[in-house]
Formats: sequence, structure tokens, C-alpha cells
Amino acid sequence: MRILLLGGTGEARALAARLHPDYDIISSLAGRVPDPALPAGPVRIGGFGGVAGLRQWLVDKEIGAVVDATHPFAATMTAHAAQVCTELGMPYLVLARPAWDTAGAMRVGSDIQAGHIVADQHYSRVFLTTGRSGVAPFTSSHAWFLIRVVTPPDAVLLPCNHEVLLSRGPYNYADECALLRDNRIDVLVTKNSGGELTEAKLKAAADLGIAIVMIDRPPLPAGVDAVGTVDEAAAWVAGLER
Ligand code: NAP
Repeated sequence: MRILLLGGTGEARALAARLHPDYDIISSLAGRVPDPALPAGPVRIGGFGGVAGLRQWLVDKEIGAVVDATHPFAATMTAHAAQVCTELGMPYLVLARPAWDTAGAMRVGSDIQAGHIVADQHYSRVFLTTGRSGVAPFTSSHAWFLIRVVTPPDAVLLPCNHEVLLSRGPYNYADECALLRDNRIDVLVTKNSGGELTEAKLKAAADLGIAIVMIDRPPLPAGVDAVGTVDEAAAWVAGLER
């Protein structure tokens, strides 16, 4: 059985490394970042062309099952994959790393709500780690932003007072503390991405008494099977009829 592994995360790469070459897998990346870390085994890059394109691709490539290890906020890809797999009667599993503990954070349902909190609470120095697609709700803010992203956001979306910090994790506690202190940050705005590689900022902010605005994950489509670890996903694959 050939398995499509929807990737773009460290967990997807770890799962590909576990499955290849014992299983016939193809990993798929969206192609958002230049020079992406490539998973083991065959890889395709780029969108499928919506629901119809994905359905056709799965049929053409004789895919028998899909593991969706995209980022927890890649809601469109997950919605498409869940819908098509249901229509085709194809086994489908979501691998989503556990969410972070939200104790002490102000939880919001969207980046737009996070933008309202920053404005309403009059925060003035914001550490924004919501990714290049999460900058738009802050465009008209007059606060100062330290915007940490892997790829630069569109210039028209940037708030008037900002610094863009291009970098890719992992990050450690000491460096995160120094970054927050040196930039006199008064609020951290983050998605609840989960995972250890970028978690240090939370403890650093909490220990420095800096407010945290945490954007909740979008809900998974109803009825999908989901696991939180690479081990569980590998066990699910091993249990498929080959
Ligand atoms: P999205 O909004 O859910 O997806 C938008 C479109 O991008 C999808 O409809 C699909 O295009 C294409 N796409 C997304 N993931 C794909 C994949 N693995 N393979 C092929 N096409 C894919 O997703 P996103 O937020 O733009 O994220 C894109 C990628 O970046 C994902 O692989 C995700 O894991 C990774 N990522 C996302 C975030 C985040 O915060 N959203 C953070 C880090 C990494 P078509 O409709 O044409 O098929």
C-alpha cells in the first residue's frame, strides 16, 4: 500500500524516517519555505489544486492511506484531506503534536482576537511569533513589534513600528530570556503550535512576568482519527492492511 504523508513539520520528517524504506511512502510539502528540510524517501512539493486536485492525485498515484502531519494551524489542508479521504473511503490519520499548557496565558480563538487584545490592553512592545500569515491583524497597530518568522511577511502587512527577525528554531531558554529582555517586550503573541523546539519562549515570558496571548488551534474536522506522537502514527501505519 502506498501512503501519502502530508508534511511540513518535524514530526512528519521523523515519521518518514521511521517508515522509509520499509513502507511505500510519498511525502508532500506545500513549498512555502525556500530550502526546506526534506524528509526521507520520495517527496513532492506544491499544492494539489484544492479538493478536486487532491482527489485526482490520490487516485492517479494509487494512494491507499493518508497520514496528515501538517502543522496544527494548517486547517485548509487538513479539511481538504479529511473530506477527500472520507469520500474515497481511504484510511486517514492526523498526527498533531500535543498542544502547549495554556496556564497563565490569555487564550483567544484567532489572530484577529489577539490583535484586539494587544490594542485594548495598550501593549507597546510585542513579540509576535504567529508566522508570516499571522501578521495582518496587527498592520494598523502603533505598538512596536519584534516579528520572528522563517520567511518574510508581505511588506504591506507590516505594522509601522517593527523589526523582522528571520530565524528558524530551535530556541533555548537563556536566549529567549535575553531576546525578551533586550527588546523590553511586554507581551508575547503566539499560536498554540506545541512542540519542544519553540516552547522555551513561554517559560521565558512567564518567568519575566511578560503577558502571553495564545491563539487556540483550529478544531480538527469532526470524526477524524488523531494521535499525538510519531510512535502512535507509526503503529497506525503498521496496522493498515498492506
Ligand atoms: P493551509 O492554509 O492549511 O494550506 C493552504 C494550501 O496549501 C492547501 O490548500 C494546499 O494547497 C497547500 N498545502 C498545505 N500543506 C500542504 C502540503 N503538506 N502538501 C501540499 N500542499 C499543501 O496550510 P498553511 O498554513 O499554508 O501551511 C502550509 C505548510 O506549512 C503546511 O505543510 C504546514 O504543515 C506548514 N506550516 C504551517 C504553519 C502554520 O502556522 N500554518 C507553521 C509551520 C509550518 P491546495 O489546495 O492547492 O492543495
